[in-house]
Amino acid sequence: MSETKTNEAWMERAQRVLPGGVNSPVRAFRAVGGVPVFVERAEGAYLHGVDGRRYIDYVGSWGPMILGHAAPAVVRAVQDAMTRGSSYGAPTAVEVELAELVTKLVPSVEMLRMTSSGTEAVMGALRVARGFTGRDLVVKFEGCYHGGADYLLVQAGSGLATFGVPTSAGVPAAIGGTTLVLPFNDLEAAKQLFAARGKEIAALILEPVVGNMGVVPPEPGFLEGLRALTAEHGALLVFDEVMTGFRVALGGAQARFGITPDLSCFGKIVGGGLPVGVYGGRREIMQKVAPLGPVYQAGTLSGNPLAVAAGRATLEALTAPGVYETLEARSAQLEAGLREASRKASVPVTIQRVGSMITPFFGPGPIRTWTDADRVDRKAFGRWHAAMLREGVHWPPAQFEAGFVSLAHTEEICATTIAAAQKAFAEA
Ligand SMILES: *Cc1c(COP(=O)(O)O)cnc(C)c1O
Repeated sequence: MSETKTNEAWMERAQRVLPGGVNSPVRAFRAVGGVPVFVERAEGAYLHGVDGRRYIDYVGSWGPMILGHAAPAVVRAVQDAMTRGSSYGAPTAVEVELAELVTKLVPSVEMLRMTSSGTEAVMGALRVARGFTGRDLVVKFEGCYHGGADYLLVQAGSGLATFGVPTSAGVPAAIGGTTLVLPFNDLEAAKQLFAARGKEIAALILEPVVGNMGVVPPEPGFLEGLRALTAEHGALLVFDEVMTGFRVALGGAQARFGITPDLSCFGKIVGGGLPVGVYGGRREIMQKVAPLGPVYQAGTLSGNPLAVAAGRATLEALTAPGVYETLEARSAQLEAGLREASRKASVPVTIQRVGSMITPFFGPGPIRTWTDADRVDRKAFGRWHAAMLREGVHWPPAQFEAGFVSLAHTEEICATTIAAAQKAFAEA
């Protein structure tokens, strides 16, 4: 084993063999400067770095770790599954039980297919939407991120927005041209687009609460308006709940806001920290998926036994009474504390939160659209982020991301975070 003990030394080694030293761009800290923490292990609300330091973690693997890291029930479930073999390429009882649990918790999902990532779940959902409607166009919103598929890497928020790459190199213009982009929270713009091209639109996809331009909630009437508009034009409404699913409520954003989409995508929490994605919805739509129907989609490791065991253990833990009340209380404590700390330091910060997703935007608010988000002070955020890290808090390393509060973030841990933030705001 290696003797390397610093993040800097690991980053140097990593950069020789991995682009930017990482396997997913935002991890590289390019948006904030500095060097990422190379993680040795994680437990509860804490990460332990190869640098020998302990950090309070708000990245939470970018969403999945709602129970905290290495939650005992999840560890046991995965250990137990592993002793029975890690993959069969044949059906299992546990994947059926997880599917049943998802359909119970999210009633709009009558039938579903599992994948190995959120990206694949979105790709599957949009393929079935196109197959079902016989139409080609997909509508998305500026600042919403739906994974790495070619036709969705168009004005996609967070990592991309941070890097100032409006669209990825390597995406053919013709493919980008199948996606139409609208400003978030602008129902009028959506109405105009549907009036002009409604007959060509297979699906409208959105993050019902945006997490990938920082936390941006839907304004009252926006989701309702999109539901009515898509129904009127025979297009499918697809909720990308990869981040919000089982996060902003047990039944996801659709439960929180009382909207029934045609299709939904899940990932992150539904895999309990292992690779899983899910897409599903109305039975008549999902019956188009192979082998029942003509829409092909497959995966060697889809419904992987370890991953579905972790997902089932996580969802079961989330059905315990009081879980979402606890998450709300801790997150509200953090929100109030961060607001007060920024005010004391006279740093103009707009804190936006929905449930246990929270973003401090370094600028005046409210942030309703990507245009609003794009105006904030990224440099001030970067200074604050670096100071937080020095104080032992591992906040997401980009302005346009959500921080995630888990059940392992106790009142005391949140108070420690607020004290750290107060010092950090003074340096921002
Ligand atoms: C994370 C995310 C995805 C992509 O999921 P992966 O598992 O990273 O492929 C898609 N949509 C949203 C809203 C996400 O937050």
